Amino acid sequence: MSLLNNSCDPNCVIVFKGPQLHLRAIQEIQMGEELTISYNETLMPTPERQKHLKRQYCFECDCLMCHTKTKDADMLAGDEQAWKEAREAVNKVGAPKSQEEWQQALVVCRTLLKNNSTLLPDRNIYQLKLLDLAMDACINLGLFEEALSYGIRTLEPYRFYYTGFHPLRAVQMMRVAKLQYSQDMFSQALDTLKQAYDIMKVTHGAEHSLLQDLMMLKEECEIRSH
Ligand SMILES: [Zn+2]
Repeated sequence: MSLLNNSCDPNCVIVFKGPQLHLRAIQEIQMGEELTISYNETLMPTPERQKHLKRQYCFECDCLMCHTKTKDADMLAGDEQAWKEAREAVNKVGAPKSQEEWQQALVVCRTLLKNNSTLLPDRNIYQLKLLDLAMDACINLGLFEEALSYGIRTLEPYRFYYTGFHPLRAVQMMRVAKLQYSQDMFSQALDTLKQAYDIMKVTHGAEHSLLQDLMMLKEECEIRSH
């Protein structure tokens, strides 16, 4: 596993299955083609991604994605002042621990999301990080209806950035499905879970415990939607 090279558009992912590390293909792989994984979070514009790789792993990435700079413009779409403010806020909040810190984070998110409504599209990665943070904060504070309103908005950007089979997109969908379930939106939850399942059977494999959880939630939704 430690021999795998990086690509910012990798053909494999590593997932944990209990104490085991599993390498799973997420793209068609030709015979003789190199297997690659992504060393870090890919939701960064190319220069930032490259800086990270250089700093942490001491190499210059020359993968196709770094050459074509695909999606860089989308990542930073909208008003520059607004996304710089969003970026700063997300970095400043960091990882809240106490209820109080979550409450403070939510206040920051609410304010910025309100101010940014005409300035930033949800595809802007810092706006997206704000939505994710707001969703997390609401879940931690038990505000599930509001959490769902943010979660729903993240799905399209997640689809756009985590194309094909990507574990992060599937996990996000599962979180949204749980929120839909909490709001008695069973048929919507069912639809979200079906999409998540199609990704997860590739990224995690049908025997993975996460898929067992998913199937249990799916059954609950099926019973309750009738
Ligand atoms: Zn790259």
